[in-house]
Amino acid sequence: MSIIKYRPIPDLTTEELCRFWKNVDQRGVDECWPWVGGARSNGGYGHIKLRGHIFVASRVAYLLYHLQDPAMIVCHKCDNPPCCNGAHLYDGTHSQNSRERDSKGRRRPVCGTASNLAKINDEIAYQIQLEIAAKYPDAEIAEKYAVSPATIANIRKGRQWNHVRAPGFVPHRRPGNGQKSCWPKFPLALRPGW
Ligand SMILES: [Zn+2]
Repeated sequence: MSIIKYRPIPDLTTEELCRFWKNVDQRGVDECWPWVGGARSNGGYGHIKLRGHIFVASRVAYLLYHLQDPAMIVCHKCDNPPCCNGAHLYDGTHSQNSRERDSKGRRRPVCGTASNLAKINDEIAYQIQLEIAAKYPDAEIAEKYAVSPATIANIRKGRQWNHVRAPGFVPHRRPGNGQKSCWPKFPLALRPGW
């Protein structure tokens, strides 16, 4: 693994964000979002140049989705190196990455309880959706079910476990989806300087 992957990703300017998203084919929330920019590694990972340095596109996508610079290697739940759908990306280690690949035998993407990575199952997702519908705060639900607030937010926004549907639960989507712009379909929490 090259040292490039561990260089801290700078806070992106609007121009850089637009440049990034223009190179990503943003498909459905559950689908893979392939990097369509020209620059790719041999393994198919997208590359983007920012402030004179090359960054792996999926690492940037991870940052934009999880709002956290990945400390370690970014792994794809979908086994699809060009994919820049933040929901398919997780921060792991090299060994986890290879173990994951070995145990899955590089199978096609899986979701829900079929995934080794799932911390929750359909039943728990259903319960969480009920609590979201009852307007409990994300942090409270996260603590109750011992998952990260990001997981609760993903469920609330229909990015994850969207095949489960509890009564009264409606995924909170950003209005105006479908407009053609360089902004991602996912709501993007703005950080200072963005
Ligand atoms: Zn994917």
